[in-house]
Amino acid sequence: MNSRVPACLAAAALAAAGGCAAPARQAAVGAPAATAETTPADLPTHPFAAMRERIAGRSVEDRPIEVWTIGTGDVVVLIIASIHGDEAAGTPLLERLAFELRARPELVEGRTVVLVPQANPDGVALGRRTNVNGVDLNRNFPASNYRARRRNGAGPLSEPESRALHDLILDVGPDRVISMHQPLQCIDFDGPAEELAEAMSEACDLPVKRIGAMPGSLGSWVGLERGIPIVTVELPGAARRWGRDELWERYGQAITKAVAF
Ligand SMILES: [Zn+2]
Repeated sequence: MNSRVPACLAAAALAAAGGCAAPARQAAVGAPAATAETTPADLPTHPFAAMRERIAGRSVEDRPIEVWTIGTGDVVVLIIASIHGDEAAGTPLLERLAFELRARPELVEGRTVVLVPQANPDGVALGRRTNVNGVDLNRNFPASNYRARRRNGAGPLSEPESRALHDLILDVGPDRVISMHQPLQCIDFDGPAEELAEAMSEACDLPVKRIGAMPGSLGSWVGLERGIPIVTVELPGAARRWGRDELWERYGQAITKAVAF
């Protein structure tokens, strides 16, 4: 899939705000405003919070790695989805999160929320875990536990997708990071993130469970090397069948908690 998700979101936002988005497009993207659960009475009366869009880098196949930023507060929360291309349920969840944060700007009071809806767009397009070079991006970070083997890349940051995430993290300096995965059905953490993990766990059906630091993972680099709290959310395997509304129903509170924490 090479479609630009922000355009979809923009359409959703317009539709929800009573704008002029074409009905066909709303239907195509499943805009929240078109669903039964968002009735006109729920629509915000204030303007949507601004969402700034940029590109952190490009994939091996030249797909953009998009970054959506909402809010301007001092506390920076970075949330990443689909670093493993076959674990893509985090993407619709982040689309819905972006919609909610824009519609309810009080949620981003004092926060800058930085969303990467598809860290591995080529992997998502192919429905595979790795990037097109066959590298597991979540083993390609410059942590001291990096392990040299073909599937982990020619060396730390050998892949454009992991470089883009690495540079984005150095650029925005997150106070905490959330990374969305499947299908282990738990909440794991690296670095000083136990309280955050517990708070998120209390708001959903996922228990906190330590999986252990994976070599060269984002969690190892961010949490262990840089000392930044990082939570890995492992959604259930069934999440692949759920749309934005169901994902939000189940995990919206937990992810909102990560923003507010
Ligand atoms: Zn994963």
